[in-house]
Amino acid sequence: MKIAILPGDGIGPEITQQAERILMALAHDGLKVELAHGLIGGSAVDKHNDPFPEATRRLAEEADAILLGAVGGPQYDQLPREKRPEQGLLAIRKALNFFANLRPAQLYPELANASTLKPEVVANLDILIVRELTGDIYFGTPRGIEVRDGQRVGFNTMVYTESEIRRIAHVAFQAARKRSSKLCSVDKMNVLECTQLWRNVVEEVAKEYPDVALSHMLVDNAAMQLIRNPKQFDVIVTGNMFGDILSDEASMLTGSIGMLPSASLNEFNKGLYEPIHGSAPDIAGKNLANPLATLLSVSMMLRYTFNQDATALRIENAVKKVLASGYRTADIFEQGMIKVGTAEMGDAVLANL
Ligand code: NAD
Repeated sequence: MKIAILPGDGIGPEITQQAERILMALAHDGLKVELAHGLIGGSAVDKHNDPFPEATRRLAEEADAILLGAVGGPQYDQLPREKRPEQGLLAIRKALNFFANLRPAQLYPELANASTLKPEVVANLDILIVRELTGDIYFGTPRGIEVRDGQRVGFNTMVYTESEIRRIAHVAFQAARKRSSKLCSVDKMNVLECTQLWRNVVEEVAKEYPDVALSHMLVDNAAMQLIRNPKQFDVIVTGNMFGDILSDEASMLTGSIGMLPSASLNEFNKGLYEPIHGSAPDIAGKNLANPLATLLSVSMMLRYTFNQDATALRIENAVKKVLASGYRTADIFEQGMIKVGTAEMGDAVLANL
């Protein structure tokens, strides 16, 4: 298993370091991992004047999976757009065709108070949003702002080919199979033809997965149901724009940004794995960052790229035990718990692995 580690900026190096410790411990137990390191984002601009240098592109292409910390920081905010750290992230997604974005929102019962929703609505929440990442209205043409009949008009094009819908549907059905075999496809077929096609193609693909229970929901209702009764969902699949909005909504149900991992996959299940949070420059280098989102990203990597479900479960169970034992980084700390730093949280997970 060739894994490229791209720590990035801010808290990136601290959190990926904890992930590496876990991977080395698993290697000690017989997991065949090979790690290589590269620069991305601001750290790559500092050294190579490029947020996604050629050497990193080659490293990423040769790897089976990539673990990324986070990119960005205020010192890069004045750079021209093409030199900004975030361009490194967009470039790696594009270069490797990572079209499927998987974002679980899981709330451990011990952290139920972190959510703004009532604990009974969200305790034990465990849903997965599969978002199409390289198509839809974000990329469709024609697009622009122009003057028509003496006034400015802004326009974009919502477009999906059936092959784009089919490939994301397959990812979602397969992900559902790895969970409780329940999939909800979200569209707006009552108004948008593009999403009528979405629904038709998802139904065609469903014939190949008779063991998965498929349902459909309109996006406005889905946004409401996610707040009203989020635990009715298991896996949700949707397009780029609806997924952008719903995945942020779902992640905030849990209230703890330092806990949530993500995966972006291509058609060969090669993946880019990263926590959903940013580089947190306000706490960088202070041993304050919560490394659990990054450790859970490693668990997603083992599950989705390497099909090592049992090893993934070892990491997830270790995280559960650590939380049950009361260990908390500052972002999830509550009175009566044991406050620990980034490295100590890593120690605790290792000890429970
Ligand atoms: P952020 O996610 O970095 O931070 C938001 C808040 O959450 C901060 O108070 C931070 O301290 C806290 N936080 C984030 N991760 C944490 C963790 N693991 N443990 C404890 N606390 C944590 O978002 P921001 O402040 O809007 O952005 C900071 C920089 O990160 C910007 O340059 C932005 O462009 C970049 N960014 C990068 C990514 C990415 O790499 N995928 C995503 C979002 C933002």
